[in-house]
Amino acid sequence: MGSTRSSHSNAYMYGFFKNKRIVLYDTLIQQCKNDEEIVAVIAHELGHWKLNHTMYSFIAVQILTFLQFGGYTLVRNSTDLFRSFGFDTQPVLIGLIIFQHSVIPLQHLVSFGLNLVSRAFEFQADAFAKKLGYGSALRAGLVKLQEENLSSMNTDPWYSAYHYSHPPLVERLAAIGEPDKKAD
Ligand SMILES: [Zn+2]
Repeated sequence: MGSTRSSHSNAYMYGFFKNKRIVLYDTLIQQCKNDEEIVAVIAHELGHWKLNHTMYSFIAVQILTFLQFGGYTLVRNSTDLFRSFGFDTQPVLIGLIIFQHSVIPLQHLVSFGLNLVSRAFEFQADAFAKKLGYGSALRAGLVKLQEENLSSMNTDPWYSAYHYSHPPLVERLAAIGEPDKKAD
């Protein structure tokens, strides 16, 4: 659940194969006095594992790093690149700086795409916890964590779509509560 939109992180999982770990922050344990809510958060993290989210994120980062280095290798000796920025010589450091600045617009698009995927993953992990029977406990836990972390309750959908790696609380609660309201 570790959220980039606040400095507070609640829980996350990392590792592959036989070296998987779920990290629960002590603040989470303090905030969720109810054991069921903590188990619900663990169920959410297990959802990330079961659905291979960690693996997908890892692969995505590798590909992006490869593209970044590959792109730089392609253009680093281009005279056009240096000329268009007013350089007659081709210092390596200047080439690197120009490249880094030129890819910033692309990076914004990529991070937007990654945020889209990340939010979809969060909904899937929530659905996983719900399927295990922790729907209402997860909702209660999410509300409590949100109160403690003092993040905004209902952000503008366009703002959150661009900036947030996690869906806004209201959307998550709605999604968890949605199809089988009688079961909750
Ligand atoms: Zn999560």
